[in-house]
Amino acid sequence: MSDQSWYVDHPEVIVVTTPKIACDGGGGALGHPKVWYDMSEEDFVECKYCDRVYALKGGSHDPGKTAAK
Ligand SMILES: [Zn+2]
Repeated sequence: MSDQSWYVDHPEVIVVTTPKIACDGGGGALGHPKVWYDMSEEDFVECKYCDRVYALKGGSHDPGKTAAK
């Protein structure tokens, strides 16, 4: 399922290959304490601190998959 408005709300999507990821906001002024996320049954996770979205490669929220039609 591809919802274009979802990508407008979440401009920063980082494609990852593992369901367990760590986010620190990229460091610097926009950084935050490092937190770990596990997607569990989902194929993406949104960071509660910096609103970055980590999408599993090839999953429903992989922007590369959406673009390559
Ligand atoms: Zn973050």
